[in-house]
Amino acid sequence: MTADVLLLAGLSGVLGLVIGSFLNVVVWRVPRGESVVAPPSACPRCGTRIRARDNVPVLSWLLLRGRCRDCGEPISARYPLVELGTGVLFAALAAVVGWSWVLPAVLYLAAVAVALALIDLDHHRLPDALVLPSYLVGAALLALASWNPGGASDWAALLRAAIGGAALLIFYFAAALAYPAGMGLGDVKLAGVLGMYLAWFGWGAFAVGAFGAFLLGGLFSVGLIAARRAGRKSGIPFGPWMLAGAFLGITVGQATWSGYLELVT
Ligand SMILES: [Zn+2]
Repeated sequence: MTADVLLLAGLSGVLGLVIGSFLNVVVWRVPRGESVVAPPSACPRCGTRIRARDNVPVLSWLLLRGRCRDCGEPISARYPLVELGTGVLFAALAAVVGWSWVLPAVLYLAAVAVALALIDLDHHRLPDALVLPSYLVGAALLALASWNPGGASDWAALLRAAIGGAALLIFYFAAALAYPAGMGLGDVKLAGVLGMYLAWFGWGAFAVGAFGAFLLGGLFSVGLIAARRAGRKSGIPFGPWMLAGAFLGITVGQATWSGYLELVT
């Protein structure tokens, strides 16, 4: 890894820590229909507003030993873990993508993905308030990536994104009609966003990303059933697997697909 990519990964990691702190607010408030800007965060027990110095990602939680400064109410370790996880995810994606105009699009999807995965695990749903704006923001950021200011434009990628988004949306809609117990409308709406992103990177990424969701989700379900932790009908949310599959497709999809084609031809 060259020094400039290392720098980019470091900066993205710090950005991820800060975004992760905001995502904790999103994950709590969006499913409850509350505003993510107001009121400011406060301790759920004593109601004291969180001071700026106690709101530094990860560090504050460690310094306060996971307790409210005023009343000593324990603060869940999940908050610093989400911040750390988002920071690591941002740094890793920046290291893979490098200095490229597609990085803003990828980091935006990463932030939405962390929020959606946690909300799906908590509430078994993928709120429209997060998924629907991602069509617009995602398309705008992918258009910027296709434009590629200062370099050669790739408008074919943007056309591919439109086709891929529609294709995966239709596929999930058909799957939801055929098997309503296994897939919700939230999954269908998310599929369009992920199809758009994956196809922008190429049809290899699209294939790996789309198939990866079912492979990862399937393996996990089989594992759970084998460990007798779940019956065949227990509702395991599919959103986190769709998102994990998409990032698999975005990061290693094209290379994996070319390798596969070389093996079979
Ligand atoms: Zn308190």
